[in-house]
Amino acid sequence: MAAGKSAIVKIAIRISGVVQGVGFRPFVARLARAHGLAGTVRNISGQVCVEAFGPLETLTRFVHEIQTFPPAGSAISGLEQQMGALPAGAVLPQGFAILDSEEDGTGPVMPSPDLAICDDCLCELFATGDPRYRNPFISCTHCGPRFSILRRLPYDRVTTAMADFPMCPLCHGQYADPGDRRYHAQTVCCNTCGPTLRYQNHQGTETGEKAVASAVAALQTGGIVAIKGIGGYHLACSPFDEAAVASLRVLKGRECKPFAVMFGDLETLRVHCEASPEEEKLLTSPARPIVLLRRRVSEITDQVYTTSPDLGAFLPYTPLQHLLLHQTGPLVMTSANVSSLPILYEDMAMLRFWRDHPALAGVLGHDRAILRRLDDSVVAVTAGGSLFLRRARGYVPLAIPLPHKADGPPLLACGGQEKNTFCLCQGGYAYLSAEIGDLDTCQAEAAYRETLDDMQGLLRMKPGLAVCDLHPDYASTRYARTSGLPVLAVQHHHAHIAAVMAEHGLTEKVIGVAFDGTGYGTDGTIWGGEFLLASPAGFVRAGHLKAVPMLGGDESVRHGWKSAACLLHDAGVAFPAGTRQALVQQALRHDVNTYRSSSMGRVFDAASAILDICQKSDYDGQGAIELENAAVQYLQSGGAQDLPPLPCGWQEAQDGFIIDLAPCISTLYEDSHQGGDPGALAWRFHRTICDLVVTACAYLMRRHGIQNVALGGGVFANRLLLQHAIPRLSEAGLKVYRNLQVPPGDGGLALGQAYIGLWTAQEKEEAAPCALPSLEN
Ligand code: ZN
Ligand code: FE
Repeated sequence: MAAGKSAIVKIAIRISGVVQGVGFRPFVARLARAHGLAGTVRNISGQVCVEAFGPLETLTRFVHEIQTFPPAGSAISGLEQQMGALPAGAVLPQGFAILDSEEDGTGPVMPSPDLAICDDCLCELFATGDPRYRNPFISCTHCGPRFSILRRLPYDRVTTAMADFPMCPLCHGQYADPGDRRYHAQTVCCNTCGPTLRYQNHQGTETGEKAVASAVAALQTGGIVAIKGIGGYHLACSPFDEAAVASLRVLKGRECKPFAVMFGDLETLRVHCEASPEEEKLLTSPARPIVLLRRRVSEITDQVYTTSPDLGAFLPYTPLQHLLLHQTGPLVMTSANVSSLPILYEDMAMLRFWRDHPALAGVLGHDRAILRRLDDSVVAVTAGGSLFLRRARGYVPLAIPLPHKADGPPLLACGGQEKNTFCLCQGGYAYLSAEIGDLDTCQAEAAYRETLDDMQGLLRMKPGLAVCDLHPDYASTRYARTSGLPVLAVQHHHAHIAAVMAEHGLTEKVIGVAFDGTGYGTDGTIWGGEFLLASPAGFVRAGHLKAVPMLGGDESVRHGWKSAACLLHDAGVAFPAGTRQALVQQALRHDVNTYRSSSMGRVFDAASAILDICQKSDYDGQGAIELENAAVQYLQSGGAQDLPPLPCGWQEAQDGFIIDLAPCISTLYEDSHQGGDPGALAWRFHRTICDLVVTACAYLMRRHGIQNVALGGGVFANRLLLQHAIPRLSEAGLKVYRNLQVPPGDGGLALGQAYIGLWTAQEKEEAAPCALPSLEN
């Protein structure tokens, strides 16, 4: 390039990543103007494209500043630049402009997730005299709904649910003013334009401030109100009102599962919960997830948290929530649905629900459509990082970069059966869907198909391969089989371990510890207490819990006492005739409706039932969660940590070791019967499981020379287990990995399936380029 020091050159920049809907173009325009550069910026498909003219030195600084100080909420995944001299006689453009978006169908697409209201907008919300004073839809380039209101890319007002609301002169002026913080803010509106808030109760309908006032009045007098949020409706009531929370439980058909509480601000939250700096960072992040916190003794009624020492706490993320909580104080906020069905997000569906549930005092909604259902995300902070229990609003559809090798053909990983998510992969990125739920109902299956069509359309992805679980009866497997795509079936626990490997960019063989409720094994038994030697290319089962005959039927999974009767039967403990356990054991003796399982999840359920902590689960994982809670409470109240572990059997077999927990289960039973403290025994049980993880991993490290351990599967949502197992594994010389961006349970399964699928497709391609003839690009 023959440009002298001050000669004008041209630069073309293409920026990919999360760069739309986060104020990227206004940011670039402002920066260019500050540097006195001429040119343009526009969205082209999923990317931001810049053309700028100026001296070489200034352009270099300009690019450097784009990379160093991008807008909050953005994430640059790639920046290509091309510098060139101006052709002779070229006319320079005047000034720096934002051009209309263009669609050229290329480039990776990364829509922004929904963003919580920012501090600037929050200030204006409560500033009397501001044109957006108390406006329930206030937003700017840095905040507001995004993914939930996006029809298609590129992200522009006309492609969102805001298209229905023309801007008033004030808003339009700010939208067009490069100096304004609402410059090109697609969601901008004010008190004279934009959506209308409305409250419907049994008396009629009110709008605007009256709607807020009536909803507040209902909440303050013990009512349950449905409130339209970002990805769906919430059902809200006062957490201090025992009767209100009790009727919310009846309304939702939810007996025991704790409810989350939204607090107006951090200060109020701190009165009711303990939050570490990391937890506060998460609580105030633009994603605003529900964070599991240790609760303090407070006025919140037991009805909210039932037996849990924790409280799912979160902060308001919409202006409407701020307006309400400012007046009502903390509110129980739970997804509007009947337990285990998908969250309601359409106004008509919400009104139908109201008709069927007249106990609901009213519905506070508005006329801006929610285009996709998104539950609140649920996260805990533990063992030095995040533990996702549900990944949805605020995180979806953020892409997860995969290791370099995995830059393969587009594919769809269909996920599991419970807590289903699916995963679309393209260009080295994995897009995990929001959690759809258990695919046990027609509604959930319909939601699955709907979400899948939507995501494929939005990301413009045409998968050429479907990856599914080995289990033939999962709805997600059936979907894969009928999709018309080539299908790759992946073993469940291999996928759990691969999900950890995908997140951490691991490509070499690891020791995989996969503990969960159930997963289809390669030998026709049900697995769930597995030690694998795994890579994305394959696995061997290096060890496992002894497979024990269990009682079949969907019901049994919910009944910890049945699992206990089965495991005790195996341990040689018989129940007196006439007891319900004796009936179960009789069925086992006669081999009626039984199957063999090495599930660790079932062992936790059984232990919980044996200690009479939880006999029957009202929600997924209740037995294990309450067992963990009992152990935590024992330790917190000063119980001795160094209790001896319970006995376990270890047996070398030809194809790996087998751990026999029968002695552990029978000792637990006997000690409990002799009046042992359930909390102390719950802790001893956890300690025993930690010990066996450490022993088995150290053994595999010695034997195979592998140092990396991946912990996966729903059992590793157990914080007590993680907190104790991880440091001990490290002490033993192992390097421990676990899921930090997706749930360790089946909510993260699809990521692992995708990683295995990409790997397999590529290996095949390398071996024979036409092995997967229908792979499309
Ligand atoms: Zn804002
Ligand atoms: Fe699983």
